[in-house]
Amino acid sequence: MKKNYNGGCSCGEFRYRILDDPIFTHACHCTLCQKYTSSAFILHSAIETLNFSIQTGTLINSNGPSGSGSLHKVFRCSECLDQIYSQFNFIKNNNILILKTTTLDDPNLFPPQAHIFIENKLNWVKLNDDIPKFKKMYNREEIYSLESLQRRRLAEA
Ligand SMILES: [Zn+2]
Ligand SMILES: [Zn+2]
Repeated sequence: MKKNYNGGCSCGEFRYRILDDPIFTHACHCTLCQKYTSSAFILHSAIETLNFSIQTGTLINSNGPSGSGSLHKVFRCSECLDQIYSQFNFIKNNNILILKTTTLDDPNLFPPQAHIFIENKLNWVKLNDDIPKFKKMYNREEIYSLESLQRRRLAEA
């Protein structure tokens, strides 16, 4: 059965729906994400591009750097410029997008499954949850579930 989770930007012009649970969700504490969000960290959920459905509004995109050094495209509501998702060059075929998880109407749906780039974490952010924490990036093979690994492989095949 298809799932439906709705989300959108703060001005309300851009609305989307995702049709499945994310493949994986992490919190990124890198300095670039701190700048992008003007906040302490960002929540990113990987989902298949096919499972992202635009309901209303339009997106514009701009290029930015990313922690890995490869190019990164940020897609934003064309009205309020809120970030909705990113595409990273290292992800083959653009068949996976990286959703800004807190743009979902219910951002509690998908809590992070890992913290990354905690070497850049703000000092006052105390991580007392029991999910894996990484100085930089994790190795997908080590922390994704088998199902998530398979979805990722299929999308990038
Ligand atoms: Zn980051
Ligand atoms: Zn907007």
